[in-house]
Amino acid sequence: MNKMLYNNRIMERENLINIEDRGYQFGDGIYEVIGVYDGKPLMLDEHLERLERSAGEVKLSLPGTIVDLKSKLEELVAANGLQEGIIYMQVSRGSAARWHEFPASDVSPVTVAYTRAEERMSEIEDQGATAVLTEDIRWLRCDIKTLNLLPNVLAKQKAVENNAIEAILHRGDLVTEASASNVFIVKDGELFTHPANNFILNGITRKKVLQLCDGLGVKVNEKTYTVKDMLEADEVFITATKLDVVPILKIDDRTIGTGEPGKMTRQVLQAFRTLY
Ligand code: PMP
Repeated sequence: MNKMLYNNRIMERENLINIEDRGYQFGDGIYEVIGVYDGKPLMLDEHLERLERSAGEVKLSLPGTIVDLKSKLEELVAANGLQEGIIYMQVSRGSAARWHEFPASDVSPVTVAYTRAEERMSEIEDQGATAVLTEDIRWLRCDIKTLNLLPNVLAKQKAVENNAIEAILHRGDLVTEASASNVFIVKDGELFTHPANNFILNGITRKKVLQLCDGLGVKVNEKTYTVKDMLEADEVFITATKLDVVPILKIDDRTIGTGEPGKMTRQVLQAFRTLY
């Protein structure tokens, strides 16, 4: 795992962070996390498409083409001999004297990527996990995958301190998503998930689950729902890269449905596993 991508070079991993990198000082950059299964990045095109969109939304011009970036990331996975794990990649607006406004146009964005070996999460996906609830205190452009993750970090910390896998976020009464995953509920045989607007990150796993449900003939409603709806749902599950589909059996002190992974959740998980 000791090779990294630095701009367009695969090289030995070392700390090349400039203290005036805007990613470091302002969180001024965007990122992606891509799952690797059996040595192959899963849904890499979709992740790179989202990266391009995030770049556009924060007015950052990506250096080089997506096609080149794709082949560099594949080269990195091969160079590190990664079988199971993730690729982390980010593009910051570059390094320049610290002023809030964009730097002069001769400052280039900085791209870095590395890999990390990680076991598959099959056990937790099969057995389920618990979550906590917390207020969504993030900005109003959660659709952009930016480096600004402090509210997500604080929420996840609350989950971990309560032996939970995730913190499910709500704005007032409405559930948005979780600190690092999307949330689905099942009620009377239908799925509900927050619409893909500025209040959530449109997860690549979420999008794939929606497609799979289409094939399975499961009705999905991309509609908002309340905390009460969620606590009274028959099933709740979360989706994210590498976590895939994880049943949520308890939220705070409230048991969801029967307290066991539900039928529809298992069906969706099984369908997802056919992708790798
Ligand atoms: N929402 C948030 C806030 C996230 O950080 C993530 C990524 N971990 C997701 C949803 C899930 O997105 P994806 O399926 O693309 O990993």
